[in-house]
Amino acid sequence: MTSRNEILFERSQRLIPGGVNSPVRAFRSVGGTPVFFKRGQGAWLWDEEDRRYVDYVGSWGPMILGHAHPEVVAAVCAAAQEGLSFGAPTARELEMAECLTGLLPGLEEVRLVSSGTEATMSAIRLARGFTGRAKIVKFEGCYHGHADSLLVKAGSGALTFGQPSSAGVPPETAAHTLTLPYNDIDAVNRLFDQMGGEIACVIVEPIAGNMNLILPLPGFLETLRERCSAHGAVLIFDEVMTGFRVGLTGAQGLFGIQPDLTTLGKVIGGGLPVGAFGGRQEIMEQLAPNGPVYQAGTLSGNPVAVAAGLATLNRVQEPGFYDRLADTTARLMQGLTEAAHRHGVGFSAQSVGGMFGIYFSARPPASYGEAVACDRERFNRFFHAMLDAGVYLAPSAFEAGFVSAAHGEAELGHTLEAAERAFAALRE
Ligand code: PLP
Repeated sequence: MTSRNEILFERSQRLIPGGVNSPVRAFRSVGGTPVFFKRGQGAWLWDEEDRRYVDYVGSWGPMILGHAHPEVVAAVCAAAQEGLSFGAPTARELEMAECLTGLLPGLEEVRLVSSGTEATMSAIRLARGFTGRAKIVKFEGCYHGHADSLLVKAGSGALTFGQPSSAGVPPETAAHTLTLPYNDIDAVNRLFDQMGGEIACVIVEPIAGNMNLILPLPGFLETLRERCSAHGAVLIFDEVMTGFRVGLTGAQGLFGIQPDLTTLGKVIGGGLPVGAFGGRQEIMEQLAPNGPVYQAGTLSGNPVAVAAGLATLNRVQEPGFYDRLADTTARLMQGLTEAAHRHGVGFSAQSVGGMFGIYFSARPPASYGEAVACDRERFNRFFHAMLDAGVYLAPSAFEAGFVSAAHGEAELGHTLEAAERAFAALRE
């Protein structure tokens, strides 16, 4: 019998390219039919066939309090009653700016936008406007949204200019983007030695979460900080994923390294569209209307979205919030690793705050090359076994996972029972 998910997907594919509004949702990497969800509550999601799942995607990061958190829902409803959008300043935006600049060490001024993509795209333009330089540096396997200049992969040689990773990006645009291997300190030093004076900015995920979870090796972020400072380049930490996910002060607080600009998204919108970029006042003052770098948005600082973000940020500031979240996530990783090893499956896992990586390899990868060398076929079988057992993992071996404050003993128990059976099946 054709399931309702299959029927909906079949119909969607006729009207929406690939049947989805963002490619990874199509399950191309893991195969099978995407699950259509109709409801979320706490750590759980319900699909169109009324099956329920423990959710480890959390809308790709924002849902740190779990789904439909009563305080967030109440804040959204109250804000909506007062008007959906004004396209004019509001006190709530100021409250958000005060909250963000108060918590993140690198933020002196901040501007709100509506997505992570807008935040990184604007930060890059600002860095270029501030320095008067064109070249930008990114790292292989890091994702910073889908602006043209960031959809670039490494060229063939060590120091070649980038090549577009998407059709529709002109080679001339990609040529300004240099891509280096993540965690490769020597490559960073060589590039700066060769052309430090031409580099407008370095953009990096301070903990990479778009090639599974990869931690920065000791000295990597420090080298970026030193070399950018020495050459007058702007260091951008893309904390769209890590911001308020790995801790209250972001990855910059965890590592004690202050970027010049920070980009944010996901958690700061609590599930509604909010992004932000901010940093040193001297740089931010280059933005219109004060300076020559143009940037704008009809719905920027939208009152309903900001209300959801503020309600979320209020909750995460409760004492012990991140300790509890990190503890739950670490216990989940430990449980999964023990279960895998009981069944002789090559597996490792690690987490930072409420963000985790699971790897079908003996130890966590430290680079894009190592990430893609993990056993993807095994991940796909594991993914489907878990899905069948009511556990929703990211439908790709190269995505980080997320735990929310609503995940408790019941959810961990359900997950680890499912994992025990999934790992047992992998051995057979
Ligand atoms: N930067 C990072 C690190 C991300 O993980 C993402 C999205 O996953 C983005 C930027 C883009 O954000 P958005 O999807 O909100 O445009």
